[in-house]
Amino acid sequence: MPNKNSYMDLDPTYTDYLGNPLLRVTCEYQDYDISRTRHGINTSKKIVEKMGADIVDVDEIDDDTQFDHKFYTDHFFGGAIMGDKPETSAVNTYSQMWDMENLFVVGGSSFPHNSNYNPTVTIGAFAYRATEGMIQYLKNGGGIVS
Ligand SMILES: Cc1cc2nc3c(=O)[nH]c(=O)nc-3n(C[C@H](O)[C@H](O)[C@H](O)COP(=O)(O)OP(=O)(O)OC[C@H]3O[C@@H](n4cnc5c(N)ncnc54)[C@H](O)[C@@H]3O)c2cc1C
Repeated sequence: MPNKNSYMDLDPTYTDYLGNPLLRVTCEYQDYDISRTRHGINTSKKIVEKMGADIVDVDEIDDDTQFDHKFYTDHFFGGAIMGDKPETSAVNTYSQMWDMENLFVVGGSSFPHNSNYNPTVTIGAFAYRATEGMIQYLKNGGGIVS
């Protein structure tokens, strides 16, 4: 779940070969993340036991809220989040930057939240919508959503 202690920023130490700072990802899980993970594990355990599984191998989740591979996902999002107003988001619903109208940012970066499900189809849908926005922008210019 989103929380203010999980964010991306520019790394103060590490740089790329041009000397530009690398992206740093900070994850700090909250008690509710741990609780729901334990709940999911325990519920799955009950289900497979009821189904008659011979071997039930259960992950133990400790109380450490720092990044832990047991919570790990390959689905990272955010950085240029989508929203309905420029004060609280980077792009509009056409993936057009609020403050740079000729720039459309397509990809998982516009997701404000990782709901844990496979995102690629939604990313594709946003790409189609961004294309509609680009066509409108090329015809009329300006911000597509005001
Ligand atoms: C191991 C793994 C398994 C996954 N399995 C699934 C799955 O089964 N189903 C699902 O829906 N999702 C899955 N995902 C998640 C999904 O792959 C990503 O969420 C999705 O690819 C993100 O798309 P994107 O366009 O935002 O970013 P990306 O696909 O990462 O595209 C970003 C592109 O930008 C390029 N790039 C980076 N920097 C620069 C630069 N400076 N200049 C030019 N280009 C640059 C990169 O090379 C890359 O091609 C998986 C991810 C991983 C890692």
